[in-house]
Amino acid sequence: MTHPVKVRPTDRSPSLKPPLCDFLDLKAQFATIREEVMEAVTRVMESQLFIMGSEVRLLEEEIAALLGAKHAIGCASGTDALILSLLAAGVGPGDEVITTPFSFVATAGSIAWIGAKPVFVDIDPETYNIDPAKIEAAITSKTRAIMPVHLFGLPADLDPILRLAKAKNLVVVEDAAQAIGARYHDRYVGTLGDFGCFSFFPSKNLGGAGDGGLITTENAALDERLRLLRMHGSKTKYHHDILGTNSRLDALQAAVLRVKLRHLAGWTKGRQARAQRYRQLFAEAKLLQQVRLPAIPPPQYEHVYNQFSIRCPERDTLREFLRLAGVPTEIYYPRTLHLQPAFEHLAYGAGQFPHAEAASQEVLALPVFPELQDAHQVAIVATITEFYASRQP
Ligand SMILES: *Cc1c(COP(=O)(O)O)cnc(C)c1O
Repeated sequence: MTHPVKVRPTDRSPSLKPPLCDFLDLKAQFATIREEVMEAVTRVMESQLFIMGSEVRLLEEEIAALLGAKHAIGCASGTDALILSLLAAGVGPGDEVITTPFSFVATAGSIAWIGAKPVFVDIDPETYNIDPAKIEAAITSKTRAIMPVHLFGLPADLDPILRLAKAKNLVVVEDAAQAIGARYHDRYVGTLGDFGCFSFFPSKNLGGAGDGGLITTENAALDERLRLLRMHGSKTKYHHDILGTNSRLDALQAAVLRVKLRHLAGWTKGRQARAQRYRQLFAEAKLLQQVRLPAIPPPQYEHVYNQFSIRCPERDTLREFLRLAGVPTEIYYPRTLHLQPAFEHLAYGAGQFPHAEAASQEVLALPVFPELQDAHQVAIVATITEFYASRQP
């Protein structure tokens, strides 16, 4: 047997170290649930029932029960969850929806995709979530909805948003794609607004074996409308009440997600423990002046740490130092939405949302997943310590 030859790319810096760990190690997670997942996949394959059916219905029921939501509707992706919610609320061309410029593109993208206009307001620089105090000034006669995002797994400050929405008769669509299981005043996010939108993209806290999404609502009429919209406007085969689309959640995804849902609470605890450990390690390394850690949420917020993003002005040089040392990092998000070419038509400019823009220049996400080893966390913080030591005059 021959040994595989490791080819060394020639453009590597001589100091480049092998990777310490993955940014997100889904193989490590799979190793802990392989049998359950394979059993579920086999069950669906044996049934050959791939479209809707009991796996989808049971997942919807199980998630509704877990979150304390009246209705849960599976769909094809988190992006579609947002789009279908806006459509079900009757939002369309000429309408405005207020949201944050510091998010994944799908947040404002879903609004623009259905022909409505995303209206941005700046974030709170401590939480990175939409600043509720800035929303009212952005409301016009065309405003129909507010779309807060629970960024990185930290609930947005929903009380003032819900109060304002009620006073102004606006719909609240919660983008909870990064925050399944996060709590705000003892309620799960996604169940406080008119719609809660979830994503099962593999890197989310509850990730499928591909794309998937889900919407929660407390309103029976909206539930029925969402079910029509996701399936060609049809309740009975070949009878189409309204114009809909094809945005079903696959039975295979539902079956895999039902297995993973049973582990979600444990995984969430694992993420929170890793976050806590980072806080301890950064404090011990006396780096709290140099590096700003995610704000410690007040007790009425539960953070589920889809990301652990640190912040510092020298972010790009730190990231390069870490890359050479084999420490994987990511930037969520390097460019705010109001400065993306895709939203050029909205005619926003640099400097309009200074907190969001500064965050996009300074945040850096470190690995934070349940299977991340303590030795890796120790090494990551040691490397960051080394970076700052090397910069001492
Ligand atoms: C992932 C994500 C989405 C979109 O979800 P998909 O399933 O990838 O379509 C929307 N909003 C936020 C904040 C996200 O992180």
